[in-house]
Amino acid sequence: MAKIMTVNGEITGEELGIVDYHEHLAFDAPPWLLREDKDFRLDDPEKSAAELKTWIRAGGKTIIEMTAIDFGRTISKIRRVADQVPEAQIIVITGYNKHYFCDQSVWYTPESELIKSCIHDITDGIEGTDIKAGIVKGGSGYNTFTDKDQKLLRIAAKVHLETGVPIITHTEAGTMGFEQVEYLVSYGVKASHICLSHMDRNPDFWEHKRIAETGAYLGYDCPGKIKYGPDELRNNVLRRLVDSQLGDRVLLGNDLGRPSYWRHYGGGPGLDFVLTKYIPRLHAEGFSNEAVDNLLIHNPKRFLTMA
Ligand SMILES: [Zn+2]
Repeated sequence: MAKIMTVNGEITGEELGIVDYHEHLAFDAPPWLLREDKDFRLDDPEKSAAELKTWIRAGGKTIIEMTAIDFGRTISKIRRVADQVPEAQIIVITGYNKHYFCDQSVWYTPESELIKSCIHDITDGIEGTDIKAGIVKGGSGYNTFTDKDQKLLRIAAKVHLETGVPIITHTEAGTMGFEQVEYLVSYGVKASHICLSHMDRNPDFWEHKRIAETGAYLGYDCPGKIKYGPDELRNNVLRRLVDSQLGDRVLLGNDLGRPSYWRHYGGGPGLDFVLTKYIPRLHAEGFSNEAVDNLLIHNPKRFLTMA
C-alpha cells in the first residue's frame, strides 16, 4: 500500500482516520478573481486554524487541501494553519483546477514544463519549502471538453503516471465526469486512481452509477450548501448507490472554498458541518454504520493508498 504525503511528512493508510477529501483552508486567490468575486478571500490562517480545530474536535483527522496552482495555492498560509493545528493531517496538491482560473502562461508554456514543475511539487517540495504535494488535480468546464480542458487533464494524467499520486479532478457542476474518466483512462490511468469532485451538484443516479461502475470515485462535497440543492437530493442518489453495492465509490468533503461558508469568517455551514450535522442525518435516515464508515474512512483509505 502506498504511503500518503502530508504537510508534516508521510503517513500510512492506517493513520488516515476520518478523511475530508475536498477542502480549502487558506489561499490567496488571483487579484482579478477577487475583483470579480470578493467571496474568495479565504486568507486568514488564524481564523482558518480556529475553525479547523472545531473539525478536529468533531473527530476529523485527515483533510485534503484542494487549492490548485491557478486558484491561488499559497503554501506559506497552509504552513501557518498546520502549525497551529498539528493534530490535523493536511494533504496539499499540485496541478490545475479549470481553464477559467488559469492565467495565459498556462496556455503558452509547453506542457512538458508544466508537468516538470508539478512533479517537482511532489518530489522536492512546493515554492522552495519542504512541503510536498500528495495529489494532482485537473479539471474541465461546464459541459465543455475543449483543448484547454484536455491540456489540464493530460498534465494530471502524466504527473500521476510519473509519480504515482492519485488524481482528484474538478467538474463544473458535476458535468463531463464520465468523459474525464474516459480521457484519463485513455492515457493509461486506472479508473480507481481518479476521483471526480462536485458530482453531487449533478445528483443524477444514472450518471453516478455509470461512473462508479468504471471504478472511479465520486466526490460528494456540497452537504449543507443549499444553493446547490437540498441534502435530500444527494442522499437519495447515495441511497441508491449503496443499494447497488456502489457505496464504496463515494468520497465525502464539503469544499468550503469561500469565506461565506466558514463560521469564523462570519458564515456557514462551517467546517464541522459534515461531521456534526450531516453524518447524524445519514444515520437518522437509515444509512448503516458500515455505509457511513465507508464514506469517512474506508473509501478514502482505499483511494489514497491506491490499494
Ligand atoms: Zn474546491
